[in-house]
Parts: sequence; C-alpha cells; structure tokens
Amino acid sequence: MPGPEQQVPADGDRAPRPARPEESADVIVVGAGPAGSTAAYHLARTGLDVLLLEKSAFPREKVCGDGLTPRAVKQLTDLGIDVSEQAGWLHNQGLRLISGRRVLEFDWPELSAFPGYGLVRRRADFDELLARRAASAGARLVERANVAGPLVDERTGRITGVTAKLGDERRPVSYRAPVVVAADGNSTRLSVAMKRYRRTDRAMGVAYRTYFTTPRHEDRYLEAWLDLRDPTDPARRLLPGYAWVFGMGDGTANVGLGVLDTADIDLDWRDLLRRWCEGLPPGYGYSPDAVTEPVRGSALPMGLNRRPHYADGLLLIGDAGGTVSPGTGEGIAYAMESGRYAAETIVQALARRTDRGRELALAAYPQALRSAYAGYFALGRLAADLLGRPRLLGAAGAVGLGHPALLKVAFRLMVNLTEPNSKDALDRLLHLVGRVAPGR
Ligand SMILES: Cc1cc2nc3c(=O)[nH]c(=O)nc-3n(C[C@H](O)[C@H](O)[C@H](O)COP(=O)(O)OP(=O)(O)OC[C@H]3O[C@@H](n4cnc5c(N)ncnc54)[C@H](O)[C@@H]3O)c2cc1C
Repeated sequence: MPGPEQQVPADGDRAPRPARPEESADVIVVGAGPAGSTAAYHLARTGLDVLLLEKSAFPREKVCGDGLTPRAVKQLTDLGIDVSEQAGWLHNQGLRLISGRRVLEFDWPELSAFPGYGLVRRRADFDELLARRAASAGARLVERANVAGPLVDERTGRITGVTAKLGDERRPVSYRAPVVVAADGNSTRLSVAMKRYRRTDRAMGVAYRTYFTTPRHEDRYLEAWLDLRDPTDPARRLLPGYAWVFGMGDGTANVGLGVLDTADIDLDWRDLLRRWCEGLPPGYGYSPDAVTEPVRGSALPMGLNRRPHYADGLLLIGDAGGTVSPGTGEGIAYAMESGRYAAETIVQALARRTDRGRELALAAYPQALRSAYAGYFALGRLAADLLGRPRLLGAAGAVGLGHPALLKVAFRLMVNLTEPNSKDALDRLLHLVGRVAPGR
C-alpha cells in the first residue's frame, strides 16, 4: 500500500526527474480531476516540475453522466491515451434527441479538429487513468493531500503555495510554487480563500444521476430527452434542461437529469429523477429494483461564473472556473481544454525574464477562455432559457421543439462542433453567431 506522499513512478515518456525539495515546485495543481490532470500532463511534458495534489486516493467516484463528446475525445487523444474499444472504451456515434413523440438521431460530424465519435466511461476509472497519465509524463501526483488553504505573501497579496493535510493522520505540510492552479472542482475552496467568488449573474445548473440495469446498455447513441416537465405543476411546465440515458456497455445505463437552477424552480431533484425514470418505455427495463446506485448530484458551475480566471499567481480551471457549458451541462471537455490553455500560458510565463513579462503572459489565459467560450456559452444559455419558456417556442411548447429543423438547431447548439469552413450553412451560421454573441 503506497504511503500518502509516495510518488507514482514515471513509467512513460520520461525518466523520473532528479530529486528536488519535496516542498517546492515550478507549478502546483490542486485537484486531479480531468482539468487538473490535463494541466499537469501538459506542464510536465515541457520539463516543468509539477506537483499534482489530490485529496482522495484513486480510484474514487465522481458523480457524473459519464458521457464524452468528440471534444473530449480530442483532448484524450492529445494526452496520448488509447481510446480504442479494445482498451475498454464504449464508442458512440452520435446523439439521439427525443421530444414528444419525435425521435431523431444525429451522428457526430467528422471534422478536421474533432473525430466523428464520442465515448462513455465511468469516472472512477476515467479520472484515475488521466491522473496516472499526468504522473507518467513526470508530474508528482500526491494522493490523499487535502489542500487546506493558500500561502499568501502579505505584502503583494500573491499566492506563494498551499498548505495541505497528508494522509489519514492529516499531517500538515506546505508546498511552494510561483504559480498555483485551482482545479479543485465546483466548491473550489482554494479560489474562495483567494476571494474569487461566484458571479451571481451567471447561470448555475444542477444535475443528478443514478444507474440501472438495462438491455439497452450498449446503445450507440447518447440519448437526451428534451421535454423534461415539472410533475408538481398542474400545467406540467417545461423545465430548462433535459434528461439523459447513456448506455455504459456493462449491463447498466447512466440515467440523469440536468436543469438550469433558476430562482423560480424549487424541486426535489432526486424525486423528479425517480418519477421521470418510471415514465420510461418498457423496453428500457427500468424498475426501482433495477437501480444499482443511489441518486446523487451536485451543482454545475457554468458560463465562466468565477472570476478572475487569473490574478495574483492563481489560475482557475475546469469547474473551479465555471467552465461547464450552459447549453448542455457538458463539463469534461471544457475542463480539459481549460487545463491545456492554462498549461500553455504558464509554460510561456515561466520562460519570461521579468516579473512584468511573466504577468503579461499569464494575463493571456483569461483572454483565451473568453475568446474560446464566451460567445458559445451565451448562446447555450439562451437555448436553455428558451427550453424553459415554451411560450417563446410557440404555443405547442415541446411539440414545437419536436420539429426536425428545431431539433437540428438544438443538436448543433448543444454539441459545439462547428467549423468556420464547413460546407453546411447552419454550421457556418452557428460558428459565426458563437463568435460574435455578446458573452462577457
Ligand atoms: C450529475 C452530473 C452529471 C454530469 N455529466 C457529465 C457528462 O456526462 N459529461 C460531461 O462532460 N460532464 C458532465 N458533468 C460535469 C463534469 O462532471 C464536470 O464538469 C467535471 O468533472 C469537471 O472536472 P474538474 O476537473 O474541473 O473538477 P472535478 O472533476 O470535480 O475534479 C476536482 C478534483 O479536485 C479534488 N479536490 C477537491 N478539493 C480538493 C482539495 N481541497 N485538495 C485537493 N484536491 C481537491 C477532487 O477530489 C477532485 O478529484 C456532470 C456533472 C454532474 C454533477
């Protein structure tokens, strides 16, 4: 059994680096979820000394829908991870949208930037794979290192490291680095301790999921049911969100729902999910007895809702920086992408010769996030808002949404897989609108 401070041996791209004082590094990354492990991998690959601090020990559970779009596949491939079916991944070929009685299947487009397939994998397995990959690139992964707070230079207000409690005995330790990355997820205690508060004018989502045994476990489409309704409302109003069923390929499906958490919705989400599952057609094989895990959920921090993404030596990535897409609740691809943007920025910054140069380089990170996501996230928010306001979609509400043309727009909006030079006019239009939409 490895001790809490024991490093995972480097078994991949590079030999273990020469011993340095355990308490300092070039960069500290707090949290080894998809965001943190991706950042640590790209940093370590350039030869920087990276400490990746994770409070739990792998494998550990993370509540999720386990669905990965082609955006996430691209990030995994960039990490050099074998995503073949032989390596245990279930491939999917697109998204099935269901609205009213309308069922439409949309295949993932094959694009120059993204592959034409998505994946499904349980997070216990997935997150461990990414963390070990970062370690194999040279990052010093420390499990059971619960970061308690920042070390701050009182004169400048700059973060200079973190304090942590190690292992079961919760031994206090300090780690120092000129740059720290908060990748500690939705609650991001590190960001809060550095006074990075959540913006209340940004969307927040909420999502819950469970698993049940089903004959449809090898479904080649991720399935989204768009007309999710409030069963406690006499008019059964539409909710701004959707329910999903993702076959896991292991005899079970992940079933869940994600909704924009707006002030006028006060529902028991667990109960809503159970009631929704009971309405599934018989072919899904759902019954309360088929459920294999408790219903669990958490908040989805969306639309870049915590800022600034860089200041005083601290960068925010993934859920810590609110990178979940408001249109879909997809978070893994954006967590990984933001981790990569942050890593590339830090590599440039640490090569500068002056403090001013370093700060200038680091300021590029929030700009990169804004130009990549602000427009698309604003569009996604709009689309989700429309879903919750059936009158805006015409008196038919979800039936109106069931129109094939609208479902096609919904699909394109949801997946954010457009290219400027696409031959498809809708594709080009959405790409353009996503670029110019007023995201701040
Ligand atoms: C029910 C549900 C379903 C979802 N379904 C999908 C889906 O199907 N597809 C998708 O793309 N996204 C989905 N998401 C969103 C996705 O799970 C997140 O966006 C994603 O996990 C964000 O990755 P992250 O690395 O930023 O944060 P996390 O995955 O939360 O990782 C944070 C890490 O930091 C560690 N940590 C926290 N505090 C500390 C500390 N003090 N010290 C050290 N380490 C710490 C945690 O242990 C964890 O390992 C879903 C979310 C929910 C709630």
